[in-house]
Amino acid sequence: MTKTSEQTRARSGARRVIAIVGRPNVGKSTLFNRLAERKKAIIIDQPGVTRDRNYATGHWYDLPFIIVDTGGFEPLASEEIMIQMREQTTLAMEEADIIIFLMDGQAGLMAADRELADLLRRLAKPVFYVVNKMDGPKSEDALPDFFRLGVAEIYSISSQHGRGIDDLMDRVALHLAPAEDGDEREEERVRIAIIGKPNVGKSSLVNKILGYARTIVNPLPGTTVDAIDTPFSIGDKNYLLVDTAGIRRKSRISLQLEKYSVMQAIRTMERSHLALLVIDAQEGMTEQDAKIAGLAYESGRAAVVVVNKWDLVAKDNYTVGKYVLDIRDKIKFMDYAPIVFVSALSGQRVAKIFDQVDLVYGQYTKRISTAEVNKGMAEILSRHPPSRSLGRQQSIAYVTQAAIKPPTFVFFVRDPQAIHFSYERFLINQIRETFSFEQVPVRVIFRKKGK
Ligand code: GDP
Ligand code: GDP
Repeated sequence: MTKTSEQTRARSGARRVIAIVGRPNVGKSTLFNRLAERKKAIIIDQPGVTRDRNYATGHWYDLPFIIVDTGGFEPLASEEIMIQMREQTTLAMEEADIIIFLMDGQAGLMAADRELADLLRRLAKPVFYVVNKMDGPKSEDALPDFFRLGVAEIYSISSQHGRGIDDLMDRVALHLAPAEDGDEREEERVRIAIIGKPNVGKSSLVNKILGYARTIVNPLPGTTVDAIDTPFSIGDKNYLLVDTAGIRRKSRISLQLEKYSVMQAIRTMERSHLALLVIDAQEGMTEQDAKIAGLAYESGRAAVVVVNKWDLVAKDNYTVGKYVLDIRDKIKFMDYAPIVFVSALSGQRVAKIFDQVDLVYGQYTKRISTAEVNKGMAEILSRHPPSRSLGRQQSIAYVTQAAIKPPTFVFFVRDPQAIHFSYERFLINQIRETFSFEQVPVRVIFRKKGK
């Protein structure tokens, strides 16, 4: 295979990341909420594992993207706000593909806007200069002021009223990658993302893994200038480590370490099939680890939990069991992910990670024929039909596996809206057990059955 074909593939699946930057109060979260996809709330039981509202997926027509609201911090002294804003903007500049720089048409052009614009002008990425709160035709009078920034194009919008957003997004869309072209095309390499908060040992693990690898092809450039993917093989199996440069490059950003690791995790995961979630054995599963796990869960990626620095833990016969229970408890939503205990430093059990990767990937890409699914589910569905809807019996006419990565099953019912969340969970569990999808996320969708 040529490098180019691999590279093209690397690009095809990734959603572009759009960051909204700007002073506090210019309307960033209002715009964010407009562009963010409203999806069914994901139920995660633990406190502190709620969705980070600053990240969301969205679509402009058929083009998917990720939208990041860089604001949302607590009110601070004005000097601190400036520092935060600079940090946030720098972060967005490093990690995002497209930047929407938002200003406030009612407040006019401010010194802080000019300062941020100076930072953005040097950037070799698309930047959209956007004046918000232009609620009616009269407000256009404020626009000339903003041309003092010396940029060629300024967009005028009202996030609150939805004005001008279509024009803006039509232009932004020119920079959005085409949507993933389906599951059908076979890929021979498992694309692996190594994610985790800073200092858990991600780059040590990368080094160790590549140390084991039998052959390492030259690293390939990924979607952005500094995203380098490294193909390698172990035995006769081929893998690709996604964004190894991003892992090795240490962040210069001090204040926003948490945001940084979250954004990096999202980026890397977008381009992968499977996430290795690395945690530090000495700390156990922390809230931030759980948040990153939540991202992997929401993105539908397969996952393996890697408990690293196992050499530093005093162990007895119960230690592993206690860790497993604690991790299962803290990330209940990811009960499918295998857990491995390793030392990236000594290399202990690092090779074992790939036994789990192979197992998980096998399930992640497995297809069950429609005949087999219906046969397997028939008895379960007749014993446990969905609850009645408006007094009418809901029966499930037909089931089919619509997709892999993640395995996705479509159930045809009379009234899809009436299906209860707990029934959905029940079906997922049944599918897992019946067809051996125990180590991967499984999705189910309900569609209205035809006459
Ligand atoms: P952020 O701090 O940049 O995230 O700003 P917010 O989205 O929280 O908005 C700050 C304030 O501006 C809120 O009171 C919003 O209701 C208001 N706002 C946002 N967009 C518009 C708009 O298009 N027009 C007007 N008139 N107000 C807006
Ligand atoms: P990253 O920020 O997640 O990429 O973490 P690094 O790979 O840079 O590791 C952070 C620190 O943890 C470094 O000082 C490593 O030497 C140390 N470290 C990484 N893995 C292990 C391990 O398995 N055992 C021990 N004892 N230290 C480790």
